[in-house]
Amino acid sequence: MKKIVVAGAGGFIGGHLVKELIRKGNTVRAVDIKPLNEWYQIAEGADNLVLDLRLRENCFKAVNGYNEVFNLAADMGGMGFIENNKAACMISVLINTHLLIAAKECGIDRFFYASSACVYNGDKQTDTNNPGLKESDAYPALAEDGYGWEKLFSERMCRHFREDFGLTTKIARFHNVYGPHGTYDGGREKAPAAICRKAIDAQMTGRKEIVIWGDGHQTRSFMYIDDCIKGIQAIMYSDIIEPLNLGSSEMVSINQLVDIVEGIAGFKMERKYDADAPKGVRGRNSENTLIRKYLGWEPSIPLKEGMKKTYDWIKEEMSNQKREKKGVNRFNK
Ligand code: NAD
Repeated sequence: MKKIVVAGAGGFIGGHLVKELIRKGNTVRAVDIKPLNEWYQIAEGADNLVLDLRLRENCFKAVNGYNEVFNLAADMGGMGFIENNKAACMISVLINTHLLIAAKECGIDRFFYASSACVYNGDKQTDTNNPGLKESDAYPALAEDGYGWEKLFSERMCRHFREDFGLTTKIARFHNVYGPHGTYDGGREKAPAAICRKAIDAQMTGRKEIVIWGDGHQTRSFMYIDDCIKGIQAIMYSDIIEPLNLGSSEMVSINQLVDIVEGIAGFKMERKYDADAPKGVRGRNSENTLIRKYLGWEPSIPLKEGMKKTYDWIKEEMSNQKREKKGVNRFNK
């Protein structure tokens, strides 16, 4: 069995990946900058290290003696975070750069980089009826300012470490990932978790209204975490060398996402639209021809099914926290 490093293991996707890799019998080192008590999940049997991976020496400490690296560490969040923290997002370039250098020097066999649909050219995302972004739509480059440019640059660096130094690098472009054990409040949450939280809050407070960012017609696709974890491993252990979309092609508008959450919650909410809130691009979807061609598979867990699991988990978390805080509601924002 292999010795695998997961960077960003205290976060949403990294936490799920560590558990899966351990379940398969691998030796896993889990690394994150956050103190252990803030990690979303702690896997039994993992070697957990708290390190700031922006620093070169910490990347060497993290990967030395191991065979493979999955880099899921980044300073990131939903639109509300990335539109207002462009420099912080770009500083994540240090994490991938130093991890690549350490991987090369320490003789790592395989290196995975978590890129994003935010690398795609903004001009191809101006219509709600997006036909799906093909991998080639990243160029000519006009990525999401800050976060997307960092992802595109880091993808490029992975490519050149492969071409120039022979390091095997794999890249997936994730399209919105959601599921249990993710962020649902505090400013870094994404639309699926935020809408669940707002609906649960509406139920808890009896104020059946919801604030939606933008006009609600903007479109996206959302991938359930189990599909993401399966796809990450399939791409890592494939022969594919180019960046590949890893996303669902089930595109919905934000209004339709609210419909789904209302269906799960069992009540309707009065919708208020905040035109000044961060909205991101107008329409985005994952075009999955390449992943189907290479892997004979694509993410397919239906949105309704994944959202039900996500909603139930967030509701449980909020109920626990509310009990702990003796009725003080911190979710009403
Ligand atoms: P997350 O924020 O839950 O996890 C990222 C983790 O990286 C966090 O726990 C954070 O503490 C850690 N980190 C940040 N700076 C660090 C540093 N200097 N040293 C060590 N650790 C550090 O995010 P996620 O949703 O799990 O995303 C994982 C990866 O996937 C990220 O690279 C993200 O950009 C990418 N991605 C995610 C989505 C999504 O929808 N979740 C979409 C596209 C791309």
